[in-house]
Amino acid sequence: MPRTWRDPRCPDCRERPQATYTGSGWKFLCACGKEFSNPEAGIEATGVEAECLASKGFRLAHSDNKDTYYEGTEHRLIWLWADGTFYVDDPFSGDNGSKGTLEEYLDRIPGRVA
Ligand SMILES: [Zn+2]
Repeated sequence: MPRTWRDPRCPDCRERPQATYTGSGWKFLCACGKEFSNPEAGIEATGVEAECLASKGFRLAHSDNKDTYYEGTEHRLIWLWADGTFYVDDPFSGDNGSKGTLEEYLDRIPGRVA
């Protein structure tokens, strides 16, 4: 099944909730202070998907707030979500809410220069 784009941002302030360490443990908090009960951290790609990402220069990265994402060329960042969707933080991909599938997105990126 194709991996489609999904916006993980807060409906109130359009910021992405971040895993934040509080006195009582890790919570997903938004910049506006809203707490998200359904924490979202990226997952690692496997198989063909991992190969496609690597062929476009994306490398697996972990942040110290327990998030997992892919770092590409020209500051491209991709998150894969456990529900089969993805998010790309790419200023060149437009913002009309319809960004297609991960495959289509990767097709638009030039391959790694040898
Ligand atoms: Zn918010």
